[in-house]
Amino acid sequence: MTRALKVSIVGAGLGGLAAAIALRQRGFEAKIFEQSGEITEIGAGVQLGPNAMKVLMALGLEQEAMKTAFEPERHVVRNFKTGRVVAATQMKGVYRSQFGAPYFGFHRADLQATLLQAVPQADVVVNAKCTGVRNAGNVAVASFADGTEVESDVIVGADGIHSSVRESLYGPESPRFTGVICWRGVVPTNIMPKGMVSPDMGAWFGPHSTLVTYYVRGGELINWAALYDAHDWREESWKTEGKPEEVMQTYADWHPAVNELISKTGRLYKWALFDREPLAQWSSGRISLLGDSAHPMLPYLAQGACMAVEDGYVLADELARPGVDAVQALKNYEALRLPRTARVQLASRARTRVNQATSPIARFGRDLAYSIRKIINPAKHTYGVEWIYGHDVTAAGAR
Ligand SMILES: Cc1cc2nc3c(=O)[nH]c(=O)nc-3n(C[C@H](O)[C@H](O)[C@H](O)COP(=O)(O)OP(=O)(O)OC[C@H]3O[C@@H](n4cnc5c(N)ncnc54)[C@H](O)[C@@H]3O)c2cc1C
Repeated sequence: MTRALKVSIVGAGLGGLAAAIALRQRGFEAKIFEQSGEITEIGAGVQLGPNAMKVLMALGLEQEAMKTAFEPERHVVRNFKTGRVVAATQMKGVYRSQFGAPYFGFHRADLQATLLQAVPQADVVVNAKCTGVRNAGNVAVASFADGTEVESDVIVGADGIHSSVRESLYGPESPRFTGVICWRGVVPTNIMPKGMVSPDMGAWFGPHSTLVTYYVRGGELINWAALYDAHDWREESWKTEGKPEEVMQTYADWHPAVNELISKTGRLYKWALFDREPLAQWSSGRISLLGDSAHPMLPYLAQGACMAVEDGYVLADELARPGVDAVQALKNYEALRLPRTARVQLASRARTRVNQATSPIARFGRDLAYSIRKIINPAKHTYGVEWIYGHDVTAAGAR
C-alpha cells in the first residue's frame, strides 16, 4: 500500500482551510501552519458567489454554511446622494437555477467557523510563522520562526498577499498600492430604522467611492464596506481601527441611510488596498501558491476568497489524479487556475474607475449604460459576470 501524500499548507485563511478540507476528502494528510496564536477573522462580511458556493456544496458544507448565510434579494446600484435606484436585478431564487448555486453573504467569522469545524484540530498548528520554503530533492521543506523545519511531499503557500512562500520562490517584490483605501464595519440590523437598508446586495456609487451593503449572519447584521480613492495612507492591517469621525466627514454629503449606517457602527476597520500584476507562474517543484498569495485582487467583484476556495478544490483534484506525480500535478493546477484568476484580477481592477468615476459625464454615461442594458435585455439578471458565477470547478471536465 502506498502512503498518503503529505501536504503542508501555510496559512489558515479561507483559502488554506478550504484546501485542507478538499485534500483530506481525497485521502491526503493535510496540515495547516498558521502564524497567529488563534484562528480568528475580523468583524466584517464576505460574499461567496455561486462559483464558490458550488465548491462548498461539493465539500459537503452547504447545510453548515446555510445556518449563518444570508441570501440577498436583489443587486441594487444606487446614486450616492439621492439613493435613486440606477439598476436592480433579482438574485434570490434566480441564481441557483441560473448558476447552480445561490449567492450568499457571511460574517467572516461564521464562514471561517464553518470551514474550521471540518478540519481536525490536531491538523491546525498555530503560532507557526513560516520564514521560508525550499525544494530538497524528493521533499519540500518549510522553515519556521522558532527554528523548526517540516518536510512534506508538497507545500502550499496560502499565506495571503505578503506571502513568505511566494517570496521564497520568486524573491521579494512589494504588492502594488492601488490608491484605494477601505473602511468597513457591521451594524446590528435591529438598531437601524426599519427598511432603511434593504436586504439587497447594495452598491452605492459616488465620486471617488463605492460603498457596498449586505446582510450577514442570517440577517442579524448589516455589513458595509466603503472603498475610497486616497493616496496618502498605505497601512495594510486586518486590525487597524478607523476613526468614525473621519468616515462620517468623508461621507457627509451621501444619502442619510449611509450616514445612519456609519454612525451606528461600533468598531470600524481601515486599511489600504493592494493588488499585484498577475504572476507568470506559481509553482516550483513541490511548492505552489493559492489564494491571495498567488493572485491578490481588489474587492470590486467580491471574488478574492471565491478564487481561493476554487483554487483549493482544483489543487486537491489535480494532486489526486492517478498516475500524475506531485510536481506535474502542481504544474497542471497552475495551468488550470492562472488564466482564470488573472482575468478576475484585471476585471476587478477595471471596476474601480467605472464605479467611482469622478467626472459627471462619465457617471452619467455609466448610469445610462446600466439602464440601456436592462431595456435591451430585460430578462437578464446579471451582466458581464456570467463567466465568473457560471464556472464550476467541481464538475468533471468543466475547468
Ligand atoms: C474590503 C474587502 C472586501 C472583500 N470582500 C470579498 C468578498 O465579498 N468576497 C470574496 O470572495 N473576497 C472578498 N475579499 C477578498 C478576500 O478577503 C481575500 O481574497 C481572501 O480573504 C484571501 O484568502 P486567503 O486565504 O488567500 O488569504 P488570507 O485570508 O490573507 O489568509 C492568509 C493566512 O495566512 C496567515 N499567514 C500569513 N503569513 C504567514 C506566515 N508567514 N506563516 C504562517 N501563516 C501566515 C495569515 O495569518 C492568514 O491567516 C475582500 C477583500 C477586502 C479587502
